Amino acid sequence: MIFCVEDEQSIRDLMLYTLSSAGFEAKGFACGKDLIDALQAETPQLIMLDIILPGEDGLSLLKKLRMQPATKSIPIIMATAKGTEYDKVIGLDLGADDYLAKPFGMMEMLSRIKAVLRRVRPAEPIKRLALGHLALNQETHTVFVHNVPAQLTLKEYQLLCLFLENPGRVFTREQLLELIWGIAYTGETRTVDVHIGTLRMKLGECKDYIETVRGVGYRIKEKP
Ligand code: CA
Repeated sequence: MIFCVEDEQSIRDLMLYTLSSAGFEAKGFACGKDLIDALQAETPQLIMLDIILPGEDGLSLLKKLRMQPATKSIPIIMATAKGTEYDKVIGLDLGADDYLAKPFGMMEMLSRIKAVLRRVRPAEPIKRLALGHLALNQETHTVFVHNVPAQLTLKEYQLLCLFLENPGRVFTREQLLELIWGIAYTGETRTVDVHIGTLRMKLGECKDYIETVRGVGYRIKEKP
């Protein structure tokens, strides 16, 4: 499955037609919000991402996708407007796998997509994250406190994953809302406090690993 984010319908239709003719399943989205919604339900093999979009632009979307555990490994090809060097450099810096300068031909798009898919690394090695008496296995989605499994909800698990992948880094409540609850989230930040509270409770003797940084947000200790 290939996702194509392109606000211009004629181009989007052409991309989808080309991809399906080449044997790919493909879905098109006119804006970032629709992409994010679709990503909740399905993980594509690759995303074609236009930079200039209504609402959130492609570079901002790319940055967010690269920060979230669930989407950070999806190959992304950016479509840059008129080959602007700046967008191209920023896009590659932010973790795009390749870029196509607009206007691009459909055959060129197809060959770039195939090239990126060929070099996509096989699944990342299973990550086991640990801190003191706390251990997390990303393959089995399990968390252990002193070798005893902890029953976390999905959001609690995702929060803990994010913290353990970024030891010592402070996340604001707004960042956590964006990263864990999705970028379209506009609710109040109390949700974060509630989930941190229940997560701490379930971590038992490891609860103090998650620190409140007053006036800023939360982080996990670098050392227990
Ligand atoms: Ca556009």
